[in-house]
Amino acid sequence: GAALCLGLGACGGSRGGQQAGGEAGSIEKGATIGISMPTKSEERWNKDGNNLKAKLEKAGYKVILSFADDKPAQQNADIENMVNNDAKVVVVAAKDGTAVGPAVEKAHDAGAKVIAYDRLIMNTEAVDYYATFQLEQVGVLEANYLIDKLGLKDGAKGPFNIELFTGSPDDNNAKYFFKGAWDLLQPYFESGVLVSPSNHGQGVTKDFTVDDWQAISVQSWKTEQAQKDMESILDSTYAHGEKLDAVLSPYDGISQGVINAIEAKRPDMKPGTDTWPYITGQDAMEIAVSNIAKDKQGETVFKNVNELADAVYEMIIEIAEGKEVSGINGEFNNNSIDVPSKLLDPQNITKDNLSDLVKAGYITQERFDELT
Ligand code: BGC
Repeated sequence: GAALCLGLGACGGSRGGQQAGGEAGSIEKGATIGISMPTKSEERWNKDGNNLKAKLEKAGYKVILSFADDKPAQQNADIENMVNNDAKVVVVAAKDGTAVGPAVEKAHDAGAKVIAYDRLIMNTEAVDYYATFQLEQVGVLEANYLIDKLGLKDGAKGPFNIELFTGSPDDNNAKYFFKGAWDLLQPYFESGVLVSPSNHGQGVTKDFTVDDWQAISVQSWKTEQAQKDMESILDSTYAHGEKLDAVLSPYDGISQGVINAIEAKRPDMKPGTDTWPYITGQDAMEIAVSNIAKDKQGETVFKNVNELADAVYEMIIEIAEGKEVSGINGEFNNNSIDVPSKLLDPQNITKDNLSDLVKAGYITQERFDELT
């Protein structure tokens, strides 16, 4: 079926309007490739966009790189501009996975190949490939960190107070991150070892399900929003010295908001002591490197975006040469089709292996020393 339709030769004409420039292998050096990133305001997308741009330019392609300022309409305009400039491949990290559908359909109809980058594009057939990191694994790493630190596998009885956050409601990834974590944490809610006493959203109980994830989400992954939400949790539930044991946060920017709120509302909680909660994160942002070094954040999930850029670069070259796209190791359903996917492994980072970020070439030793 569509999911196994790889490369131009096998796919040509099998879906509406999919004639990427005519003959297989006809994307010439010097052709234009579009890269549409969601925003400049989060660290990673700058790296993601510029890495891929540099690789493609080195290989002789023209690149249009746009950042959509977290605005779906802006992203759609960016993609239309790529189409007007005859882009042969359009790489999109969606701000809003659903709202971007019509724009990629136009690109596809004009003959471009569409690659969903990191975040899946929903409800459309106009997505040829998807490349990301194992999504649920992100949540698994976060939850396992908390389970380990709280000694839950060793039979600690608690009850431990934990507060939970999920990512942006318009990002398909956010639900998968939560699913990976909730599947592991829910049994401890079931047994009463973990409780979430705040009235955050609908309140998280043992009956909370993965499908309820939007009740505890942070719009656009914003630090300020997370801070507000955490401040109201602290005001409502932790205003009289109650212990907060752990916070499941899906992203370093949200973790930062949580930390800001704790520092503002609970100056009695001190990093590096057992008054401070275990806090997770994702992306190995610079702020998280510094927070981990200072014992404010316990963990982050590192996604080596250099490797993601390599993976997508290889896809583009194979598409351009009319070869079968290699390295497909999964597929994701976007409510319309199964999209052939390349899935990379995320890595757990704590204070113990923080310097792995330098070894991976993700951050320079000099910058690391400044941050830690
Ligand atoms: C990405 C994460 C990132 C988050 C916020 C998600 O779609 O997969 O790596 O932390 O967006 O930018």
